Amino acid sequence: MPWVCALTAMSLVWLSGTFALAELPMTGDPVLREAQHAETHAEPSDEDLERISRMPRRISPSDLEPNPSVSVGYPNRGLLRFGMRINDERDLSVKVGSLNTRHGTGELVRLIEYAAHEVAFRYPRSRLTVGDLSRPGGGRFVPHKSHQSGRDVDLGFYMLDRRSTPVNNHVFIPFNNKGIGRQWGAIYKLDAARNWALVESLLSHPTTDVQHIFVTNAAKRALLRQAVKERAHPELIMRAKRVLSQPRHDAPHRSHFHVRTYCSDDDRPMCKDRPPFYAWHERPSQAPAVSTLQPNDS
Ligand SMILES: [Zn+2]
Repeated sequence: MPWVCALTAMSLVWLSGTFALAELPMTGDPVLREAQHAETHAEPSDEDLERISRMPRRISPSDLEPNPSVSVGYPNRGLLRFGMRINDERDLSVKVGSLNTRHGTGELVRLIEYAAHEVAFRYPRSRLTVGDLSRPGGGRFVPHKSHQSGRDVDLGFYMLDRRSTPVNNHVFIPFNNKGIGRQWGAIYKLDAARNWALVESLLSHPTTDVQHIFVTNAAKRALLRQAVKERAHPELIMRAKRVLSQPRHDAPHRSHFHVRTYCSDDDRPMCKDRPPFYAWHERPSQAPAVSTLQPNDS
């Protein structure tokens, strides 16, 4: 299982490419010589710079830990083996009440840390509120039906106070359809900018794919409005439209996001996913889609 952090892995890819190119013989062509000069000095190409710009902005201790976690079974009937514990740090805080249910797959823990760092990079001093993940060994616990196999997490909303100043309030507060929440006499507003930044980060992680983000339809509309206002990448908006949804037969999720990741490749086939499978999510070790089956396939 991969234990090196994404940064190290990508740097290695970049460096190995650089050294291979540096072996090229020099020629008289000035354009080629300029390119070789750049290569011998390990100057990154535009493509490398683009890739580096998408790397996590801060390394978490968990990035350097081995990741032997295995998600077993389904989110609503499953277990977690060798789960990773998520710890408080500058950009995230596990809320009171979730201190014994803070284990997830290594992929999920790193995804949460990555997203919290990304939001804090764009909006300094932001601190994400993390609710339940799974128990250390997974399995059922009230009040959840899912959260059993280390691939689910509840994340609190970023909020504004009544004067529209960003605040870090590490509790889950229910918000009405106008994005207003109340607690202990104080009024809070849903912070569309920071919550969209969170969704954007969750949906653009380089290696871990999100299957669901459950939240109310009203919050979904507010987030998509923000995305359009910020001229977010159309691919990201399309993903957000598919992934954000209000559950039809379950709690509407007025006080938090419920995020679920797909099984990681190295946990299959023990780890089980149900549809939907989105086009941007690669499933190399799964059966081909029905429409591509040939008559001889069984
Ligand atoms: Zn949940």
